[in-house]
Amino acid sequence: MFFPAIKYDEPVFRPPGEARSAILQATLGCSWNQCAFCEMYISKKFRARSLEDLKPEIETLSKVYKGVKKIFLADGNAFVLSANKLIPIVNEINNQFGKLQRISSYALPKDILNKSEHELKELRNLGLKLLYIGIETGDDDLLKLINKGETFNSTLEGIHKAHDAGIDTSIMIINGLGGKKYTKQHALKSAEIINKVNPKFLSTLTLSLPYGLDHFQNRFNGDYKQQTIIELFEELKLFIENLDVENVIYRSNHVSNNLPLKGTLSKDQNELIDLLNVAIKNTSKNIYPSPPAIL
Ligand code: SF4
Repeated sequence: MFFPAIKYDEPVFRPPGEARSAILQATLGCSWNQCAFCEMYISKKFRARSLEDLKPEIETLSKVYKGVKKIFLADGNAFVLSANKLIPIVNEINNQFGKLQRISSYALPKDILNKSEHELKELRNLGLKLLYIGIETGDDDLLKLINKGETFNSTLEGIHKAHDAGIDTSIMIINGLGGKKYTKQHALKSAEIINKVNPKFLSTLTLSLPYGLDHFQNRFNGDYKQQTIIELFEELKLFIENLDVENVIYRSNHVSNNLPLKGTLSKDQNELIDLLNVAIKNTSKNIYPSPPAIL
């Protein structure tokens, strides 16, 4: 939810699941800002905002959004803030809003690993119950090629550490991230890491190239050959076929996706695979996804 009385530093992004949440920009931009596929915060220099700056915004939001149940801390990875900075912000939110269902933010695995178990539990007890983590892939080769700054192991450790503290995760994977050459290892290693962490939420987005194929190929440190829509469906099918999880709420209904999918895994696994088979059968060969408009 956006409110005109708050002067947001645009652009502001939030996950689809936070459409009804009040948004507080605890940080601006992304502290990493180096992933080859991501242009979300290229216009912003990362900085943390002070509690003094945030207090009047929290007060305004709490007055306007009486009864709101969820708060999302923006921007890119507000969870990068140290516990010493985050705890007073969360306390102020709780003081102003009263009872909330949850507070959430985007996070990188390293942002979780940088906090102690005790700090994570304290944040959880104060209501920070969900972290959105764009792990993008479980494949170490690809993580390096896209310059994610994380590995299979760091991602695994970070997510486990959050779960051990009682913090749920919503994990995002990017369909088509490695192109034709890396498609198989991307699907299989992504399924492997999801199986090891069993997140509460899982979503797949499709690689978008708002600045064109050449731009991405120049930023990707390997041989990137774009996949056709059928190849993207096949990659997604291989990923889903290899999932072995329980009660994971799965969504693939981002604007970038060519086929909206949703279900609970593994319960709906066969149904999702059937839908992908139909899509593969009914999609013309050699059709590539169209590039989205530049943000
Ligand atoms: S960490 Fe997230 S927001 Fe930051 S550059 Fe990578 S994908 Fe973009």
